[in-house]
Amino acid sequence: MTEFELIRRYFAARPPVRADVRVGIGDDAAVVRPPAGMDIVITTDVLVADVHFFADVDPAALGHKALAVNLSDLAATGAEPAWFTLNLTLPDADPAWLQRFAAGMFNLADEHALQLVGGDTARGPLAVGITAIGLVAEGKGLLRSGARVGDAIYVTGALGDAALALAGRQGMQRLGAEEMAFVAARLDRPTPRVDAGRALRDIATSAIDVSDGLMADLGHVLAASGVGARIEREAVPVSPVYRGRLSEVGWDYALAGGDDYELCFTVPAAGRQRIESLARDLNLPLTRIGEITSGRELDVLDPAGAPCRPTRTGHDHFSH
Ligand code: ADP
Ligand code: MG
Repeated sequence: MTEFELIRRYFAARPPVRADVRVGIGDDAAVVRPPAGMDIVITTDVLVADVHFFADVDPAALGHKALAVNLSDLAATGAEPAWFTLNLTLPDADPAWLQRFAAGMFNLADEHALQLVGGDTARGPLAVGITAIGLVAEGKGLLRSGARVGDAIYVTGALGDAALALAGRQGMQRLGAEEMAFVAARLDRPTPRVDAGRALRDIATSAIDVSDGLMADLGHVLAASGVGARIEREAVPVSPVYRGRLSEVGWDYALAGGDDYELCFTVPAAGRQRIESLARDLNLPLTRIGEITSGRELDVLDPAGAPCRPTRTGHDHFSH
């Protein structure tokens, strides 16, 4: 199979999804026409075999996740996903692998009416780089810098399942088959909170997606906003599976584990009564976990009100 056959067969042979793509795959560059009055939001993430995933991962899950982590970044800005590009380096062109990879990726793309408009393909160690591009009304994008003293802090969904799954795979936690299946799905096929992000545009003052752990990512919001925060540990939402193991595994995975792809956002007093109905509309828990304070510290309080710290704080590729 030549490079061009590979691109045509697995990535280009699809009907157009969006009318605003003037030129998609096949020319030197893609040309898109954004509607007037919209800001363009651009994010990119690369997943590298043996760093971000095991090389024998289900290719459908890899295709899903490579796109999901980018959609999660768009979600955190409140953007509507529109287009994406795919950079793929592959040790060899295995048709069955490519078929499953493309299916996993396009299933998620189709859910959000997102069109693949270009990319690059080369032989090399397995790595997947996606750039996702979205649209948000001018000046309306949610930023890390908007949190204000007195805002309530919320998170979507539940935290810690992905880190628990990784610990299970690495033999650091022993989980039953059903428990493992549940948390593994959360690790391998995260759901980017795109609808929540869009709805929060007019409610939240700041937002971030939780990719490196709540403590680390909320820390970025605090630094960018010049504020502190107080979190009530027991308020941090965890799944029924996680709660069932809480006495053994503790709170570290929920507070500091990575790969959750939930949103953490801040809401001023005026917006809070809208959160409950929004959670109902989205069919997604939106849980208040604390508030923004005037200090610079991130304090986590145990049920007695005493400060506690997770033993690890987040993932950093260059910290070791
Ligand atoms: P060029 O040499 O001009 O950069 P390429 O031969 O790399 O062009 O790519 C040809 C076309 O195929 C371009 O439109 C490019 O965007 C697209 N393309 C290449 N690889 C991919 C991929 N993995 N996914 C989607 N489109 C791709
Ligand atoms: Mg090229």
